Amino acid sequence: MTAASTTALLDLGAAHIAQTYKRTDFVLARGEGAYVYDTEGKRYTDWVAGIAVNALGYSDPGMIETIQKAATGLLHTSNLYYSEPAIRLAAAICEKSFADKVFFTNSGAEANEGALKFARKYHYERGDHARHEVVCFTNAFHGRTVGALSITPKEKYQKPFAPLMPGVVVATYNDLASAEAAISERTVAVILEPVQGEGGINPATNEFLQGLRRLCDERGALLIFDQVQCGMGRTGTLWSNEPSGVKPDIQCLAKALGGGMPIGAILLTDAVASAMHPGEHGSTYAGGPFITSVAGYVFDRISQPSFLAHVRETGDYLKERLTEINSPLVKEVRGRGLMVGLELSVDVSPIIEAGYDHGLLLVNAGPNVVRFVPPLIVEKQHVDELADKLTTILAAQA
Ligand SMILES: *Cc1c(COP(=O)(O)O)cnc(C)c1O
Repeated sequence: MTAASTTALLDLGAAHIAQTYKRTDFVLARGEGAYVYDTEGKRYTDWVAGIAVNALGYSDPGMIETIQKAATGLLHTSNLYYSEPAIRLAAAICEKSFADKVFFTNSGAEANEGALKFARKYHYERGDHARHEVVCFTNAFHGRTVGALSITPKEKYQKPFAPLMPGVVVATYNDLASAEAAISERTVAVILEPVQGEGGINPATNEFLQGLRRLCDERGALLIFDQVQCGMGRTGTLWSNEPSGVKPDIQCLAKALGGGMPIGAILLTDAVASAMHPGEHGSTYAGGPFITSVAGYVFDRISQPSFLAHVRETGDYLKERLTEINSPLVKEVRGRGLMVGLELSVDVSPIIEAGYDHGLLLVNAGPNVVRFVPPLIVEKQHVDELADKLTTILAAQA
């Protein structure tokens, strides 16, 4: 495409796409591996992956083959009927997790909404109608729908949309004393991201997760892990809570699960799943045969030990190279696997803008953190390119 037609396209987009995001002044057209190309053929190394979604990168041959094959089968059946891909995906997820049962969704927010309903129904079914509170944490992000937004304690996101869901108690992330004060016999569930994404790439300590499990058990509350961003191999283990040894009662997935196709999942113990009876929760599109065929392929690839080892190795190298950047603007490098944050002492927007000029797609996590959540197939050569370019960009900003 010519520059003139790109400009025309951008104008048409500005005129007709709801402006709920600040978008760039280029238009993405295609991708290959860890690279994406805009309509004018400019190449970018992708450190965003559609916000931690495109785990296998772009134009993955196995993914294309799976999609082509699935496209000739049934696309949609509704949940009135079983389909083999959905059954196989649910069984595979259960085999590799704490879960006994899976409820499929179309997105991360929808998974969290459903998790809240499963948790409430669990207590309701036991005759415990007094419980009505949900404990969430500072800097959490659980989605934009009303229930998920209610447990995302950020004024800019919440305030214009009040009143939200009542009964939300906010405790301080990684502060067990604060959680202890918040969790009681009124608590339905405690929900957190084992590694916070949007909130700035903040890993929970093992002691915090273990302490929450103990408090939930003592006070009869359910523990929900929102692994929409940090799950599915992102942190170098299939599930980001693995180093803590803690098991949740409910766990939400989305983002990388479909490798770029929209799907989410709520993972449940039998005790929780059995509280919801036919007709009490649903989703028309969710878990259809097409999408679960694709997600089945992605799940199989990501859960291979060699794939996860690659994420750990490349992630360690990324942290090492970022730590070596010698700039007065750098405050901290944190995260695990290929979920890494670079905290700066300044607003990161100009750095992200400069990244585009240098052929890098970057995204923030809050005002001061550059977040690296690339396709999980990135290689050390991509890390080297990133570190060199960031060194140049930061030197120009300092
Ligand atoms: C992205 C995200 C969500 C919301 O997912 P959507 O698919 O955008 O609804 C929820 N929780 C976490 C941790 C996320 O990162």
